[in-house]
Amino acid sequence: MISMETITRSPEETMAVGEQLAASLRGGEIILLYGDLGAGKTVFAKGLARGLGIKKEVVSPTFTLLQTYVTGKKPIEKMVHVDAYRIEKEEELILVGIEDYLEDSSAVCVIEWPEKIPGLTKGKKTIKISFSHLKDGGRSIAIDA
Ligand code: ADP
Ligand code: MG
Repeated sequence: MISMETITRSPEETMAVGEQLAASLRGGEIILLYGDLGAGKTVFAKGLARGLGIKKEVVSPTFTLLQTYVTGKKPIEKMVHVDAYRIEKEEELILVGIEDYLEDSSAVCVIEWPEKIPGLTKGKKTIKISFSHLKDGGRSIAIDA
């Protein structure tokens, strides 16, 4: 397991950490983003998308549950972005195909609020990233891979 913590001082820096992580992905990864509202999870997902070559703007998928973005490239052909904040039952995500995406080696799945859907990622290999607010306004980003 690799653990590292980074401090970022601006949204652009948070995005850049996501972009750097993207460069190390091969496809099939499940990335779990933990942290309070406003901690920087969606901004990080935007950086990941940029690093994967996605041109479309990544927006918070809170109202759509799950959003897919194509990269136009191989081996990683898409990023699947989930925000589980408002999900009440895992079934809601199963109905929109989450299980296939989690098994798809040509996809990178990025999940905000993964603690709301523990059953869906149980037993699967994941990259866990925890975001927290620092007193000075910056963010701590801790990655366990
Ligand atoms: P979440 O998805 O965790 O609820 P968002 O990514 O939507 O949070 O929003 C985080 C907010 O924090 C955004 O307004 C973003 O611009 C800001 N932000 C992200 N990283 C930093 C940072 N290092 N310093 C200051 N503000 C940041
Ligand atoms: Mg968010």
